[in-house]
Amino acid sequence: QEDIFKNVVSHAKEYGFIFPSSEVYDGLSAVYDYAQNGVELKKNIREYWWKSMVQMNENIVGLDAAILMHPTTWKASGHVDAFNDPLIDNKDSKKRYRADVLVEDYAEKLNQKAQKEIEKARARFGDAFNEQEFVTTNARVIEYLSKYKEILSRLAKGMSDDLQDVKALIEELEIADPETGSKNWTDVKQFNLMFGTKLGASADSAMDLYLRPETAQGIFVNFLNVQKSGRMKIPFGIAQTGKAFRNEIVARQFIFRMREFEQMEMQFFVRPGEEMKWYHHWKETRLNWHLSLGLGKENYRFHDHEKLAHYANAAADIEFNFPFGFKELEGIHSRTDFDLKAHEEYSGRKLQYFDPELNENYVPYVVETSVGLDRMFLAVFATSLKEEVLEDGSTRTVLKLPSVLAPTKVAILPLVKKDGLPDIAKKIIDDLKWDFTVAYDEKDAVGRRYRRQDALGTPFCVTVDHQTIEDQTVTIRHRDTMKQDRVKISELKDIIENEVSM
Ligand code: ATP
Repeated sequence: QEDIFKNVVSHAKEYGFIFPSSEVYDGLSAVYDYAQNGVELKKNIREYWWKSMVQMNENIVGLDAAILMHPTTWKASGHVDAFNDPLIDNKDSKKRYRADVLVEDYAEKLNQKAQKEIEKARARFGDAFNEQEFVTTNARVIEYLSKYKEILSRLAKGMSDDLQDVKALIEELEIADPETGSKNWTDVKQFNLMFGTKLGASADSAMDLYLRPETAQGIFVNFLNVQKSGRMKIPFGIAQTGKAFRNEIVARQFIFRMREFEQMEMQFFVRPGEEMKWYHHWKETRLNWHLSLGLGKENYRFHDHEKLAHYANAAADIEFNFPFGFKELEGIHSRTDFDLKAHEEYSGRKLQYFDPELNENYVPYVVETSVGLDRMFLAVFATSLKEEVLEDGSTRTVLKLPSVLAPTKVAILPLVKKDGLPDIAKKIIDDLKWDFTVAYDEKDAVGRRYRRQDALGTPFCVTVDHQTIEDQTVTIRHRDTMKQDRVKISELKDIIENEVSM
């Protein structure tokens, strides 16, 4: 699995999806740049989300609030006092870790060991293999899985409130520094994750600000502006995508945990007392959105929180099976009226809705869906990257992205660089580029060009050959099946649109 992950990182770089930030200066840890193909994939994921949330729901509207907000925002939201991560240092290696992540990673390793045993047995026993029976009778697998489940349930209960509990668990499990193996730990300390900055030039009058650590607060403080100007009736939602910043200490796992990242959040404002109905509605709706991408149902699971954050009365994560195990991809939270009430208190302004049906004023309750765009990118990219052995024994690398998300929808390839074929290819591009992202490639043998487009995730290749001059037909090759059909140039648009439109 480590190899798979290394492949993901190097493929992302080699094919122009993701580069380390400021690489000429050896990069900046946990900060990344999206390259020519990455920016398209990322944009398509964002649009796929936006379309399903805003365009498809008449009671959800968009917003693009500023990254810089009045500093009192973060006092009201609780971030100044409570947006902390529990940190632990290893006394020997001097390395710093997030204590809860250290425990979680350890648990995931146990899970992976169990899965490996299961795979081995499956290979050995073939058709006769009964997984259920094996899992309940094999002593090693029982041990791994029961320990794994116990740790997860203790984490779910939220040990981070009592920091020394986490330390005790790390010692009890004899968790070692993953890099050096040392078990010599310090106590656990809290560390605030917000990035500070200053507004204004002179030292005395400058105002201390924070880069927003989540997009949600921009929605809360605009709740009444949007409701009034849009004449919105409860229940209604406000959706936003944008950058958020967290001074993450454990910055590993590529774009899974970044210091500058992008969120796609929607706050749904409801009548007090109706929040649980909407919480379940959004849990189901969001899971279905993920499933619609076709990355495999088995790669998702819910993790319901037993221990809740100070602002929530119900919370669940949608976890995804990343190359390093199941981890949070999206959070769905029933946030009560915590945020709006806090902003009322700190601002001295009312943030209430007049409900014409009930004929009363109230502060709405909020159900939030919050997904990381970069984590979505990683989920889609890593799951789509495949090494395939072909019938003739050769292998190909193919990025089987959902077609709607692919950076380039079609590549137009003249079979040879002469006889007027490039001109025909360019004419086809001129027709198609109004509707799709199109690439042109005339370098190398056509087979190699196909492989390059496979590695970029391009769902279609269109090849212009000498027959095209005669009868205005081309071959269209499908990325996943490698099947080629001869079709009329005039049919291309419909064929492509049929598969790639959102
Ligand atoms: P984690 O426990 O992994 O740190 P979180 O519970 O703090 O995540 P939320 O505050 O609920 O995350 O943020 C909502 C979503 O934003 C997460 O589900 C995740 O997809 C994304 N996200 C949060 N932190 C990061 C980060 N540092 N890098 C990339 N995406 C992030």
